[in-house]
Amino acid sequence: MKRPVLAANWKMNNGPTAAKTFMDAFLASYPPGNDRTVIIFPPAVSLTTVATAASSRADILAGIQNIHWAEKGAFTGEISAPMAKDAGAAVVLVGHSERRHVFGETDAQCAQKCCAASKAKLAFMLCVGETMQQREAGETERLVTRQLREGLSETPNLIAADFMLAYEPVWAIGTGLTASAGDASAIHTVLRSELREMIGTRADEIPILYGGSVNATNAAGLLAAPEIDGLLVGGASVEASSWLIIAQS
Ligand code: PEP
Repeated sequence: MKRPVLAANWKMNNGPTAAKTFMDAFLASYPPGNDRTVIIFPPAVSLTTVATAASSRADILAGIQNIHWAEKGAFTGEISAPMAKDAGAAVVLVGHSERRHVFGETDAQCAQKCCAASKAKLAFMLCVGETMQQREAGETERLVTRQLREGLSETPNLIAADFMLAYEPVWAIGTGLTASAGDASAIHTVLRSELREMIGTRADEIPILYGGSVNATNAAGLLAAPEIDGLLVGGASVEASSWLIIAQS
């Protein structure tokens, strides 16, 4: 039986004070002993707040939304994988659609970030997904396969690496246009079979999450699909009340 992964991407919401309020409320209503793993990706300034609040909970991990691939150096405003780990991160989000489409992040940069995370002994979650234009042009499978292959191309000893995938169609992120469980499952199946070609049966242990306008109403239906191992949630994860419902879906 799968152990679902429920991941909250707060994007640029919840600074340290709001993060503390969120974690206090969430932890008070979300007792240990769940059959699932929760990951919270706060803004970097709130990482230590989240990690500290969850420090006694093995089922709740703190993550970071982005890293630089270098370990240190003259990269003003950036954060390295070892620094994120030192601040309490256990997981790194790589290649989120907003990083790719707003900040111009490339597959090659994603590959370097996955590599840096792995070398720092952090798990990473590589995001892939197509725009509406690419979907309508019938390019989805080719695109997500390329993002997968190129994103993982620099990770040393991939078969042993600690990572997850998130299929997040760009057209579904923040739009209210959720992919159907069937549509998401079809792409998850493509990703899984591509992964099998790359790392054999180890592929079956890699969680593949769906993300894109998941909310408290549709989360349980998506999670019920056997191909969907978890959910990556943006807007509906910012408030503890709706996140609590999703985390328990
Ligand atoms: C996300 O930011 O990863 C995301 C899926 O956003 P939303 O849930 O708001 O669509």
